[in-house]
Amino acid sequence: MSVERTFSIIKPDAVAAGQAGEILAMIQKAGFKIIGLRMTRLTELQAGGFYAVHKERPFYQGLVKFMTEGPIIVMALEREDAVKGLREVMGATNPANAAEGTIRKRFAENIERNCIHGSDAPETAAVELAFFFTSAELL
Ligand code: UDP
Ligand code: MG
Repeated sequence: MSVERTFSIIKPDAVAAGQAGEILAMIQKAGFKIIGLRMTRLTELQAGGFYAVHKERPFYQGLVKFMTEGPIIVMALEREDAVKGLREVMGATNPANAAEGTIRKRFAENIERNCIHGSDAPETAAVELAFFFTSAELL
């Protein structure tokens, strides 16, 4: 296994609820190095583009509305097996199915407002990292 990068977002629900610090602490405790981090707010165009893969899904419009409702924190993370490892720390998309001790089990309200995003594959991670960070910004 080699060192890998992944991309994550602390979503508007968790930022608004003041949970960003605790979520970051859980990510760091799981061994991730933060190599990029910024607070931003998505436009409808950006959120729609980021989640374009879900364009035909019934939850797409609600998801875009949710992701633009307030500030988010975007992060570039590095660790061995980072993509799979972050998905494990996050827990299942629906918090009702998330394992004990995961971020979504602890902080997510429901399947939409689920507090964190994490890339689902190394190829997706590369695209998502480039969406928010230039290579010069990743330390
Ligand atoms: N989502 C939703 N309803 C669903 C499935 C997903 O609102 O039935 C939202 C949720 O915020 C989720 C995001 O769309 O995190 C992207 O969905 P995906 O299936 O990629 O889940 P993830 O990779 O975030 O676990
Ligand atoms: Mg996904």
